[in-house]
Amino acid sequence: MKRVAIFPGSFDPFTNGHFDIVNKGLKLFDEVVIAIGHNTNKQRYFPVEDMIAKIGEAFNDNEHIKIVAYSELTVSLARKHNAKFLLRGLRNTTDFEYENSIAQVTKYLDNDLESVFLITSPQYAAINSTIIREVHRYGGKVDDLLPYKL
Ligand code: ADP
Repeated sequence: MKRVAIFPGSFDPFTNGHFDIVNKGLKLFDEVVIAIGHNTNKQRYFPVEDMIAKIGEAFNDNEHIKIVAYSELTVSLARKHNAKFLLRGLRNTTDFEYENSIAQVTKYLDNDLESVFLITSPQYAAINSTIIREVHRYGGKVDDLLPYKL
């Protein structure tokens, strides 16, 4: 059986920190499904279709990576992809508190989906999508924080 993990997030944008977590995940799983959660009522800064293309570039169309957009329960999407693992990154204790609550709800919704947490490499721990959006909005340089060219 293929070991599939789903890596859900907003990825607005997908950063070097996310890239690092997926690459670590590829050592554990046969396939990682990068799932861009897209709430149709919520305006994104980087359009979903653009982000899918950019993430594809970053991974050089690696056959062990799938990139999808979704607007449904993460546990439902995981089932569709036969993913038994839900991958998340942990940067600090704030992430831990938040992730802990999400993991409890995930377990409640689907007892067969196991959340797996990987610790961010220190050089990426300060990278944050919200800050990248703000810097980019006002014309600042963000190239070194992303695994693709904008
Ligand atoms: P969400 O809005 O669901 O938190 P994000 O796109 O911000 O989505 O993050 C998705 C996942 O990636 C989360 O597990 C988050 O903790 C993790 N993450 C975010 N930034 C980094 C980073 N710099 N390094 C490692 N993991 C990160």
